[in-house]
Amino acid sequence: MQLKTQIVVVGGGAGGLELVRKLSARYGRARHDMILLEPNRTHIWKPLLHEVAAGSLDANLDEVGYRSHGHRWGYRFFMGRLESIDRDARQAIVAPLLDEDGAEIVGRQRIRYDYLVLALGGVTNSYATPGADRHCIFLDDRQQADRFRLKLLNQCLRVSRQTSAEPGSGARVRIAIVGAGATGVELAAELYNAAAGLRHYGLEVFDESRLDITLIEAGPRILPALPERLSDAARDELEALGVRVLTGARVAEVTDTAVVLATGERVQADLRVWAAGVKGPDFLQGLGGLESDRDNRLLVRSTLQTTRDDRIFAIGDCCACPQSGSDRPVRPVRRPRTRWRTPPSPTCAVCRKASRLLILFTAISARWCR
Ligand SMILES: Cc1cc2nc3c(=O)[nH]c(=O)nc-3n(C[C@H](O)[C@H](O)[C@H](O)COP(=O)(O)OP(=O)(O)OC[C@H]3O[C@@H](n4cnc5c(N)ncnc54)[C@H](O)[C@@H]3O)c2cc1C
Repeated sequence: MQLKTQIVVVGGGAGGLELVRKLSARYGRARHDMILLEPNRTHIWKPLLHEVAAGSLDANLDEVGYRSHGHRWGYRFFMGRLESIDRDARQAIVAPLLDEDGAEIVGRQRIRYDYLVLALGGVTNSYATPGADRHCIFLDDRQQADRFRLKLLNQCLRVSRQTSAEPGSGARVRIAIVGAGATGVELAAELYNAAAGLRHYGLEVFDESRLDITLIEAGPRILPALPERLSDAARDELEALGVRVLTGARVAEVTDTAVVLATGERVQADLRVWAAGVKGPDFLQGLGGLESDRDNRLLVRSTLQTTRDDRIFAIGDCCACPQSGSDRPVRPVRRPRTRWRTPPSPTCAVCRKASRLLILFTAISARWCR
């Protein structure tokens, strides 16, 4: 019996989910078998994570279940985390699946592939800054965004109670955000939006005036990918909201109470968010003997095939495509939210965001897509 051509896509994020849907729609099931391997049950569009973190978006309303999406589009969903690759046998090795208590649900498995597409995404790069991994929250996935939101709510509750007990106490929620790219800037603005709504949810004496947000950027200006005129306008908007914007400020250390700058200044903060820099996950270094760069990204050719294996492709944030005559990889095409549909269905949150960010991301896109 002739086996079907099996295409395994690893990672159901922005790139992987759209790819597996399109492949399934195009090739069907007669002679092909499409498989999506992903450790989570549901997908949430990553550019919405800062809204989840701020509490202005309920992630449950915007997530997509992989099983039903697979049923709808004709691919098989395997819940699990890629652990390694056996390139000789052409098999992806999936780590044992554990439940919340650490008990094994399914043991280690092997999935045969004819073609393997790695779409594992990226993680925030703290550039080995002392204390950053321990004392900062990153916004790489839903769990981290949820964790930030809970900490934020607890802190708002604390300040609200303290203000009720002692109205003149001047208690405030202090937040430091490291990195003034799109994520850091949007998070800062979104926190003011969210705080303004808290009084409707039982925190009567709390509002945005109780927030102390400091946005810390090492470069000379915020939103460095945008033209200077737009980045200046965004800075003015943030400062009008009440955000303290520090540029040319390099972070030397993060502690459990403060972000310490190279100048020695301590920015006291109850919550510290690191939103600067992206790299590939550490486990990509040496995965299956594939070639990666110093930021753990898999090196690919212009066909997106990895440099050492024609049957393995890498797409999205986990890959780097070197260009001749430069030591930098091809720049990623930053997609404006206006054009970026969530694979299964555009949602109201996406539409809301699209209209708010129309101008900002059209500008990024015009610049990056050149
Ligand atoms: C707050 C925020 C705002 C952003 N805004 C924008 C924007 O406006 N425009 C824009 O273009 N980009 C934006 N980005 C960047 C954009 O989200 C990423 O570039 C994009 O998600 C990358 O897609 P990807 O498929 O490579 O990875 P991801 O979308 O990160 O997906 C990776 C998937 O791989 C899975 N995975 C990880 N490890 C394994 C494993 N071992 N085995 C199996 N599966 C695994 C993960 O669970 C995840 O589902 C933003 C990012 C953030 C965090």
